[in-house]
Amino acid sequence: MVDASHDTDTTTTDQLTLQDPVSRYPSITPPAEALPGTGLDAEMAPKADLGEHSYRGTGRLEGRKALITGGDSGIGAATAIAFAREGADVVLTYLEQEEEDAKNVARIIEAEGRTVETIPGDLRDKKFCKDLVAKAVETLGGLDILVNNGGKQVAVEGIENITDEQLEATYDVNILAMFRLVKAALPHLEPGSTIINTTSIQAYEPSETLVDYASTKAAINNFTKGLSQQLAPKGIRVNAVAPGPIWTPLQPAGGQLPDDLPEFGKATPLGRAGQPTELAPAYVFLASPESSYVVGETLNVNGGMVSP
Ligand code: NAD
Ligand code: MG
Repeated sequence: MVDASHDTDTTTTDQLTLQDPVSRYPSITPPAEALPGTGLDAEMAPKADLGEHSYRGTGRLEGRKALITGGDSGIGAATAIAFAREGADVVLTYLEQEEEDAKNVARIIEAEGRTVETIPGDLRDKKFCKDLVAKAVETLGGLDILVNNGGKQVAVEGIENITDEQLEATYDVNILAMFRLVKAALPHLEPGSTIINTTSIQAYEPSETLVDYASTKAAINNFTKGLSQQLAPKGIRVNAVAPGPIWTPLQPAGGQLPDDLPEFGKATPLGRAGQPTELAPAYVFLASPESSYVVGETLNVNGGMVSP
């Protein structure tokens, strides 16, 4: 049975049709209310667009084998759907409490006739990171795309109010897990494989309420560049995608202070928040062989916020 709460057909116009980027999606004004827990796509209002009814594949990832962390919702889910439509099989991870969302993404991918496996677990857990790669390799019969996308963002006023628990969890999930997953994946990655890390505009323009989160994103930028130098001679390309304000569960679930939510994304030159599916083509490009000479790059997808 299809759960209507997951209906994400904000638009049915595909990403290859000429559109005005200002009005491709409406400018949203979310309520100044936090979502409970770590946030579910199913509970978002307004709905986020994962591309279920719009992303059109063109065979760019035929036969590829992808592992995507945090693929249950938001940018990771939109990327998983796009990868499947481009011909890839996908393993995605999610936090246990977000199973409903993971199942929804699996349903959309299965409809493409692609293999999909959803694996719950906590990226703070060292053993999980290791086991996860082993399971993905087993399910997919190898691995040639790793998307390090799972992330934690909790807005807090005043550094003195950031608990040790939050500080460590943010660093564990956002940056330490990337090191661990790359180390575990490397023995399986053949030349032509790609690693894509999700960073953020926050790496360059940190919000005063996100000093822990933003500093992990700056670390991810640096890690991406350094690792890219190390792995390029092996034929493995490492790049990053840096989203701007994108309407995903992480934002209303504590990523922004509730009072900031109604204005979310409005300060961009496009005047609106981005939708998760607008990120997917960047990941597809960096995963696909067409970006063969793109190494250590950060693709900014942020509605026009000028970045270095
Ligand atoms: P999201 O909430 O949809 O996705 C984040 C996912 O991370 C969750 O679905 C969850 O499965 C996973 N996750 C969180 N904590 C975890 C843990 N401890 N263990 C395992 N998995 C965990 O939000 P999103 O915005 O799509 O986030 C995806 C990435 O995009 C993150 O790295 C985020 O920092 C980055 N990003 C988002 C924005 C934005 O505006 N939404 C902007 C810049 C960067
Ligand atoms: Mg989620």
